[in-house]
Amino acid sequence: MTRAIQFSGLRDLYEQAVAGQRFSTADALRLFESREIHALGAIADLVNRRQNGARASYILNRYLNYSNYCILSCQFCAFARKKRDQDGFELSVEQMVAKAREALALGVTELHIVGGLHPSLPFQFYLDMLGALRAMDNRLQLKCFTAIEILHLAWQARRSVPDTLTALREAGLDSLTGGGAEIFRPEVRSAIARGKESAAEYLEVHRIWHKMGGRSTCTMLYGHVESLEDRIDHLEQLRQLQDETGGFTGFIPLPYHPENNSIPVDKAPTAWDTIRTIAVSRIFLDNVRHITAYWVGLGTKLAQVALNFGADDLHGTIHEEHIFRMAGAQSPAQQTEAEMVRAIRETGRTPVQRNTFYEPVKVWETTPGQDEAAGGSGADISGRNLATA
Ligand code: SF4
Repeated sequence: MTRAIQFSGLRDLYEQAVAGQRFSTADALRLFESREIHALGAIADLVNRRQNGARASYILNRYLNYSNYCILSCQFCAFARKKRDQDGFELSVEQMVAKAREALALGVTELHIVGGLHPSLPFQFYLDMLGALRAMDNRLQLKCFTAIEILHLAWQARRSVPDTLTALREAGLDSLTGGGAEIFRPEVRSAIARGKESAAEYLEVHRIWHKMGGRSTCTMLYGHVESLEDRIDHLEQLRQLQDETGGFTGFIPLPYHPENNSIPVDKAPTAWDTIRTIAVSRIFLDNVRHITAYWVGLGTKLAQVALNFGADDLHGTIHEEHIFRMAGAQSPAQQTEAEMVRAIRETGRTPVQRNTFYEPVKVWETTPGQDEAAGGSGADISGRNLATA
Protein backbone atom coordinates (compact mmCIF):
# COMPACT_ATOMS: atom_id res chain seq x y z
CA MET A 1 0.00 0.00 0.00
CA THR A 2 1.44 3.38 -0.89
CA ARG A 3 0.99 6.29 1.43
CA ALA A 4 0.20 9.67 -0.09
CA ILE A 5 2.73 12.28 0.91
CA GLN A 6 1.24 15.18 2.83
CA PHE A 7 2.88 18.37 1.63
CA SER A 8 0.82 20.76 3.81
CA GLY A 9 3.38 23.44 4.72
CA LEU A 10 5.58 22.76 1.68
CA ARG A 11 2.84 22.53 -0.96
CA ASP A 12 3.79 25.81 -2.65
CA LEU A 13 7.45 24.77 -2.78
CA TYR A 14 6.51 21.42 -4.28
CA GLU A 15 4.57 23.22 -6.99
CA GLN A 16 7.52 25.54 -7.51
CA ALA A 17 9.72 22.49 -8.08
CA VAL A 18 7.17 20.97 -10.48
CA ALA A 19 7.23 24.23 -12.43
CA GLY A 20 11.04 24.12 -12.52
CA GLN A 21 11.42 27.49 -10.80
CA ARG A 22 14.56 28.51 -8.94
CA PHE A 23 14.44 28.47 -5.13
CA SER A 24 15.38 31.56 -3.14
CA THR A 25 17.51 31.60 0.00
CA ALA A 26 14.29 32.15 1.99
CA ASP A 27 12.83 29.02 0.36
CA ALA A 28 15.97 27.10 1.31
CA LEU A 29 15.60 28.16 4.94
CA ARG A 30 11.96 26.98 4.95
CA LEU A 31 13.05 23.63 3.56
CA PHE A 32 15.82 23.31 6.14
CA GLU A 33 13.48 24.17 9.02
CA SER A 34 10.61 21.96 7.88
CA ARG A 35 9.82 18.80 9.83
CA GLU A 36 8.07 17.31 6.78
CA ILE A 37 10.93 15.03 5.83
CA HIS A 38 8.87 12.97 3.36
CA ALA A 39 7.69 16.08 1.55
CA LEU A 40 11.26 17.40 1.47
CA GLY A 41 12.43 14.07 0.06
CA ALA A 42 9.69 14.06 -2.57
CA ILE A 43 10.70 17.52 -3.79
CA ALA A 44 14.39 16.62 -3.86
CA ASP A 45 13.67 13.33 -5.63
CA LEU A 46 11.55 15.09 -8.23
CA VAL A 47 14.37 17.55 -8.98
CA ASN A 48 16.95 14.76 -9.03
CA ARG A 49 14.95 12.47 -11.34
CA ARG A 50 14.35 15.32 -13.74
CA GLN A 51 18.13 15.63 -14.15
CA ASN A 52 19.36 12.08 -13.67
CA GLY A 53 16.39 9.74 -14.07
CA ALA A 54 16.73 6.62 -11.95
CA ARG A 55 20.50 6.43 -12.30
CA ALA A 56 22.92 6.55 -9.39
CA SER A 57 26.64 6.50 -9.94
CA TYR A 58 29.90 5.46 -8.36
CA ILE A 59 33.51 5.60 -9.48
CA LEU A 60 36.39 3.16 -9.18
CA ASN A 61 38.92 5.42 -7.54
CA ARG A 62 41.78 5.38 -5.13
CA TYR A 63 42.72 8.03 -2.62
CA LEU A 64 46.38 8.92 -2.44
CA ASN A 65 47.87 11.38 0.04
CA TYR A 66 51.42 12.34 -0.89
CA SER A 67 52.02 13.82 2.57
CA ASN A 68 50.20 14.92 5.71
CA TYR A 69 52.74 17.59 6.65
CA CYS A 70 51.07 20.98 6.69
CA ILE A 71 52.11 24.49 7.60
CA LEU A 72 48.56 25.27 8.79
CA SER A 73 46.66 23.94 11.79
CA CYS A 74 42.98 24.18 10.89
CA GLN A 75 40.99 23.58 14.05
CA PHE A 76 38.75 20.88 12.53
CA CYS A 77 41.60 18.93 10.91
CA ALA A 78 42.71 15.56 12.30
CA PHE A 79 44.91 14.79 9.30
CA ALA A 80 47.73 17.36 9.36
CA ARG A 81 51.05 16.77 11.10
CA LYS A 82 54.20 18.78 11.75
CA LYS A 83 57.68 17.59 10.91
CA ARG A 84 58.32 16.81 14.58
CA ASP A 85 55.37 14.37 14.73
CA GLN A 86 56.08 10.65 14.74
CA ASP A 87 53.19 9.81 12.43
CA GLY A 88 53.89 12.37 9.74
CA PHE A 89 54.63 11.00 6.29
CA GLU A 90 55.59 11.95 2.78
CA LEU A 91 55.76 9.65 -0.21
CA SER A 92 58.26 9.74 -3.01
CA VAL A 93 57.16 9.77 -6.62
CA GLU A 94 58.24 6.12 -6.83
CA GLN A 95 56.03 5.20 -3.86
CA MET A 96 53.09 7.03 -5.42
CA VAL A 97 53.64 5.16 -8.67
CA ALA A 98 53.76 1.82 -6.82
CA LYS A 99 50.41 2.54 -5.11
CA ALA A 100 48.93 3.68 -8.41
CA ARG A 101 50.10 0.47 -10.06
CA GLU A 102 48.22 -1.59 -7.47
CA ALA A 103 45.12 0.53 -8.08
CA LEU A 104 45.31 0.12 -11.84
CA ALA A 105 45.35 -3.64 -11.39
CA LEU A 106 42.01 -3.29 -9.58
CA GLY A 107 40.41 -1.40 -12.46
CA VAL A 108 40.62 2.02 -10.85
CA THR A 109 40.01 4.89 -13.30
CA GLU A 110 40.74 7.85 -11.02
CA LEU A 111 43.43 8.79 -8.54
CA HIS A 112 42.21 11.37 -6.02
CA ILE A 113 45.32 13.07 -4.70
CA VAL A 114 45.56 15.67 -1.95
CA GLY A 115 47.99 16.47 0.83
CA GLY A 116 48.73 19.09 3.43
CA LEU A 117 50.49 22.34 2.59
CA HIS A 118 53.94 20.85 2.65
CA PRO A 119 56.58 23.22 4.02
CA SER A 120 59.37 22.40 1.61
CA LEU A 121 58.53 20.11 -1.32
CA PRO A 122 59.53 21.97 -4.49
CA PHE A 123 57.02 22.65 -7.26
CA GLN A 124 58.95 20.26 -9.46
CA PHE A 125 57.91 17.38 -7.16
CA TYR A 126 54.25 17.93 -8.06
CA LEU A 127 55.04 18.15 -11.76
CA ASP A 128 57.14 14.97 -11.57
CA MET A 129 54.41 13.18 -9.62
CA LEU A 130 51.72 14.07 -12.15
CA GLY A 131 54.02 13.26 -15.06
CA ALA A 132 54.95 9.85 -13.67
CA LEU A 133 51.33 8.93 -12.95
CA ARG A 134 50.16 10.19 -16.32
CA ALA A 135 52.84 8.10 -18.04
CA MET A 136 51.52 4.91 -16.42
CA ASP A 137 48.24 4.80 -18.31
CA ASN A 138 46.71 7.64 -20.23
CA ARG A 139 43.19 6.48 -19.33
CA LEU A 140 43.85 7.07 -15.65
CA GLN A 141 42.25 10.36 -14.59
CA LEU A 142 44.09 12.51 -12.08
CA LYS A 143 41.83 14.49 -9.76
CA CYS A 144 44.19 16.41 -7.53
CA PHE A 145 44.66 19.30 -5.14
CA THR A 146 42.33 21.56 -3.24
CA ALA A 147 42.15 25.29 -3.92
CA ILE A 148 44.40 26.07 -0.95
CA GLU A 149 47.00 23.60 -2.23
CA ILE A 150 46.95 25.41 -5.58
CA LEU A 151 47.53 28.74 -3.82
CA HIS A 152 50.32 27.17 -1.79
CA LEU A 153 52.01 25.71 -4.88
CA ALA A 154 51.68 29.03 -6.71
CA TRP A 155 53.32 30.78 -3.77
CA GLN A 156 56.11 28.20 -3.61
CA ALA A 157 56.72 28.32 -7.35
CA ARG A 158 56.46 32.11 -7.43
CA ARG A 159 53.99 31.80 -10.27
CA SER A 160 50.54 33.23 -10.82
CA VAL A 161 47.59 30.91 -10.20
CA PRO A 162 46.82 30.62 -13.95
CA ASP A 163 50.47 29.78 -14.69
CA THR A 164 50.49 27.22 -11.87
CA LEU A 165 47.32 25.56 -13.10
CA THR A 166 48.59 25.56 -16.68
CA ALA A 167 51.84 23.86 -15.65
CA LEU A 168 49.97 21.27 -13.58
CA ARG A 169 47.57 20.57 -16.41
CA GLU A 170 50.41 20.14 -18.88
CA ALA A 171 51.97 17.66 -16.45
CA GLY A 172 48.78 15.60 -16.24
CA LEU A 173 46.18 17.22 -13.97
CA ASP A 174 42.63 16.42 -15.13
CA SER A 175 40.40 17.89 -12.43
CA LEU A 176 40.66 19.85 -9.20
CA THR A 177 39.08 18.41 -6.07
CA GLY A 178 36.42 20.39 -4.19
CA GLY A 179 38.02 20.09 -0.77
CA GLY A 180 38.72 23.05 1.48
CA ALA A 181 35.48 24.96 0.96
CA GLU A 182 34.39 24.27 4.57
CA ILE A 183 31.87 27.08 5.26
CA PHE A 184 32.41 30.35 3.43
CA ARG A 185 31.18 32.85 6.05
CA PRO A 186 34.33 34.51 7.52
CA GLU A 187 33.26 34.20 11.18
CA VAL A 188 32.73 30.44 10.83
CA ARG A 189 35.84 30.04 8.73
CA SER A 190 38.04 31.63 11.34
CA ALA A 191 36.46 29.44 14.03
CA ILE A 192 37.21 26.18 12.22
CA ALA A 193 40.00 26.88 9.72
CA ARG A 194 41.93 29.93 10.81
CA GLY A 195 44.66 30.86 8.34
CA LYS A 196 43.11 29.01 5.44
CA GLU A 197 42.26 30.78 2.19
CA SER A 198 39.19 33.01 2.16
CA ALA A 199 35.97 32.08 0.41
CA ALA A 200 36.85 34.57 -2.31
CA GLU A 201 40.22 32.89 -2.85
CA TYR A 202 38.64 29.40 -2.95
CA LEU A 203 36.09 30.55 -5.49
CA GLU A 204 38.69 32.45 -7.53
CA VAL A 205 40.92 29.36 -7.95
CA HIS A 206 37.93 27.39 -9.20
CA ARG A 207 36.81 30.31 -11.40
CA ILE A 208 40.24 30.51 -13.06
CA TRP A 209 40.34 26.73 -13.57
CA HIS A 210 36.83 26.68 -15.03
CA LYS A 211 37.64 29.54 -17.39
CA MET A 212 40.65 27.55 -18.59
CA GLY A 213 38.15 24.83 -19.54
CA GLY A 214 38.84 22.76 -16.41
CA ARG A 215 36.27 21.04 -14.26
CA SER A 216 36.11 20.53 -10.50
CA THR A 217 33.80 19.47 -7.72
CA CYS A 218 32.75 21.58 -4.74
CA THR A 219 32.04 20.76 -1.11
CA MET A 220 30.62 22.05 2.16
CA LEU A 221 31.65 20.88 5.64
CA TYR A 222 28.49 21.03 7.79
CA GLY A 223 27.35 20.14 11.27
CA HIS A 224 29.86 21.99 13.49
CA VAL A 225 29.46 25.62 14.60
CA GLU A 226 27.67 27.00 11.54
CA SER A 227 24.01 28.06 11.35
CA LEU A 228 21.50 27.07 8.70
CA GLU A 229 21.85 30.57 7.26
CA ASP A 230 25.61 29.97 6.95
CA ARG A 231 24.95 26.80 4.97
CA ILE A 232 22.54 28.60 2.67
CA ASP A 233 25.01 31.45 2.14
CA HIS A 234 27.61 28.83 1.20
CA LEU A 235 25.26 27.17 -1.30
CA GLU A 236 24.32 30.54 -2.73
CA GLN A 237 27.95 31.45 -3.40
CA LEU A 238 28.53 28.11 -5.13
CA ARG A 239 25.38 28.57 -7.21
CA GLN A 240 26.48 32.03 -8.28
CA LEU A 241 29.87 30.78 -9.47
CA GLN A 242 28.22 27.90 -11.26
CA ASP A 243 25.89 30.34 -13.04
CA GLU A 244 29.01 32.17 -14.19
CA THR A 245 31.23 29.25 -15.26
CA GLY A 246 29.26 25.98 -15.30
CA GLY A 247 32.48 24.27 -14.23
CA PHE A 248 31.34 22.32 -11.19
CA THR A 249 30.61 18.72 -12.06
CA GLY A 250 29.22 17.77 -8.66
CA PHE A 251 28.63 18.88 -5.09
CA ILE A 252 29.72 16.81 -2.10
CA PRO A 253 28.31 17.78 1.31
CA LEU A 254 30.74 16.56 3.98
CA PRO A 255 29.47 15.87 7.51
CA TYR A 256 31.75 17.09 10.28
CA HIS A 257 33.44 14.36 12.33
CA PRO A 258 34.37 15.35 15.87
CA GLU A 259 37.40 13.32 16.91
CA ASN A 260 41.02 14.47 17.15
CA ASN A 261 40.44 18.14 16.52
CA SER A 262 40.11 21.31 18.58
CA ILE A 263 36.58 22.41 17.68
CA PRO A 264 34.37 22.32 20.80
CA VAL A 265 31.67 20.25 19.12
CA ASP A 266 31.68 16.61 20.14
CA LYS A 267 28.93 15.21 17.94
CA ALA A 268 28.68 14.48 14.25
CA PRO A 269 25.51 15.66 12.50
CA THR A 270 22.48 13.42 12.97
CA ALA A 271 20.98 11.33 10.20
CA TRP A 272 18.12 13.83 10.02
CA ASP A 273 20.49 16.74 9.56
CA THR A 274 22.46 14.90 6.90
CA ILE A 275 19.39 13.89 4.93
CA ARG A 276 17.87 17.37 4.94
CA THR A 277 21.22 18.93 3.97
CA ILE A 278 21.49 16.66 0.95
CA ALA A 279 17.86 17.30 0.00
CA VAL A 280 18.12 21.10 0.28
CA SER A 281 21.42 21.04 -1.63
CA ARG A 282 19.75 19.17 -4.47
CA ILE A 283 16.80 21.54 -4.61
CA PHE A 284 18.75 24.79 -4.20
CA LEU A 285 21.78 23.95 -6.37
CA ASP A 286 19.66 23.65 -9.49
CA ASN A 287 22.66 24.22 -11.75
CA VAL A 288 24.89 21.47 -10.31
CA ARG A 289 23.80 18.19 -11.81
CA HIS A 290 25.33 15.71 -9.42
CA ILE A 291 24.98 15.54 -5.63
CA THR A 292 27.08 12.98 -3.78
CA ALA A 293 26.12 11.02 -0.68
CA TYR A 294 29.69 10.52 0.50
CA TRP A 295 29.57 7.05 2.03
CA VAL A 296 32.82 7.53 3.97
CA GLY A 297 31.24 10.32 5.98
CA LEU A 298 27.66 9.03 6.07
CA GLY A 299 28.15 5.28 6.24
CA THR A 300 26.78 3.17 3.42
CA LYS A 301 23.34 2.70 4.97
CA LEU A 302 22.59 6.39 5.32
CA ALA A 303 24.12 7.05 1.90
CA GLN A 304 21.58 4.60 0.47
CA VAL A 305 18.74 6.52 2.09
CA ALA A 306 20.16 9.74 0.69
CA LEU A 307 19.65 8.38 -2.83
CA ASN A 308 15.93 8.90 -2.23
CA PHE A 309 16.52 12.41 -0.90
CA GLY A 310 18.21 14.00 -3.89
CA ALA A 311 21.63 12.35 -4.11
CA ASP A 312 22.55 10.56 -7.33
CA ASP A 313 26.11 9.50 -6.56
CA LEU A 314 27.85 7.46 -3.84
CA HIS A 315 31.42 8.55 -4.65
CA GLY A 316 33.99 5.80 -5.05
CA THR A 317 35.71 2.66 -3.93
CA ILE A 318 38.49 4.86 -2.45
CA HIS A 319 40.77 2.04 -1.17
CA GLU A 320 42.70 4.09 1.39
CA GLU A 321 40.91 6.94 3.13
CA HIS A 322 42.81 8.82 5.86
CA ILE A 323 41.19 12.19 6.38
CA PHE A 324 37.73 11.17 7.67
CA ARG A 325 38.93 8.09 9.46
CA MET A 326 41.50 10.12 11.42
CA ALA A 327 38.57 12.36 12.42
CA GLY A 328 36.63 9.39 13.80
CA ALA A 329 34.59 8.08 10.87
CA GLN A 330 33.77 4.41 11.50
CA SER A 331 33.23 3.49 7.88
CA PRO A 332 35.57 0.97 6.25
CA ALA A 333 38.63 2.18 4.35
CA GLN A 334 37.21 1.03 1.04
CA GLN A 335 34.23 -0.46 -0.74
CA THR A 336 34.23 -3.06 -3.46
CA GLU A 337 32.48 -2.34 -6.71
CA ALA A 338 30.07 -5.17 -5.97
CA GLU A 339 29.06 -3.54 -2.69
CA MET A 340 28.42 -0.23 -4.37
CA VAL A 341 26.38 -1.81 -7.15
CA ARG A 342 24.32 -3.74 -4.60
CA ALA A 343 23.78 -0.66 -2.42
CA ILE A 344 22.45 1.27 -5.41
CA ARG A 345 20.29 -1.57 -6.69
CA GLU A 346 18.61 -2.03 -3.33
CA THR A 347 17.24 1.50 -3.65
CA GLY A 348 15.67 0.68 -7.01
CA ARG A 349 18.17 2.80 -8.91
CA THR A 350 20.22 1.86 -11.91
CA PRO A 351 23.91 1.61 -10.98
CA VAL A 352 26.28 3.46 -13.27
CA GLN A 353 30.03 3.34 -13.08
CA ARG A 354 31.21 6.84 -13.95
CA ASN A 355 34.49 8.55 -14.66
CA THR A 356 35.92 11.71 -13.05
CA PHE A 357 33.63 13.91 -15.12
CA TYR A 358 30.50 11.89 -14.21
CA GLU A 359 30.34 10.42 -17.71
CA PRO A 360 29.04 6.84 -17.78
CA VAL A 361 31.60 4.08 -18.15
CA LYS A 362 29.28 1.15 -17.47
CA VAL A 363 25.51 0.94 -16.92
CA TRP A 364 24.16 -2.03 -14.99
CA GLU A 365 20.85 -3.79 -15.14
CA THR A 366 18.61 -2.31 -12.46
CA THR A 367 17.32 -5.68 -11.30
CA PRO A 368 19.39 -7.38 -8.60
CA GLY A 369 20.85 -10.78 -9.18
CA GLN A 370 24.22 -10.22 -10.78
CA ASP A 371 26.11 -8.86 -7.84
CA GLU A 372 26.59 -12.10 -5.95
CA ALA A 373 28.94 -13.23 -8.70
CA ALA A 374 30.87 -10.02 -8.58
CA GLY A 375 33.88 -11.18 -6.64
CA GLY A 376 34.95 -7.68 -5.67
CA SER A 377 36.39 -4.64 -7.29
CA GLY A 378 37.75 -5.03 -10.76
CA ALA A 379 36.03 -8.35 -11.47
CA ASP A 380 33.78 -8.82 -14.46
CA ILE A 381 30.35 -8.51 -12.94
CA SER A 382 28.37 -8.50 -16.15
CA GLY A 383 27.59 -4.82 -16.47
CA ARG A 384 26.87 -3.55 -19.93
CA ASN A 385 29.65 -1.43 -21.32
CA LEU A 386 27.83 1.52 -22.85
CA ALA A 387 30.56 4.03 -23.05
CA THR A 388 34.19 4.18 -22.26
CA ALA A 389 35.42 7.61 -21.37
S1 SF4 B 1 42.60 21.10 6.54
FE1 SF4 B 1 44.25 21.07 4.99
S2 SF4 B 1 45.22 23.10 5.20
FE2 SF4 B 1 44.03 22.78 7.09
S3 SF4 B 1 45.52 21.83 8.54
FE3 SF4 B 1 44.42 20.14 7.51
S4 SF4 B 1 45.76 19.58 5.78
FE4 SF4 B 1 46.39 21.63 6.48
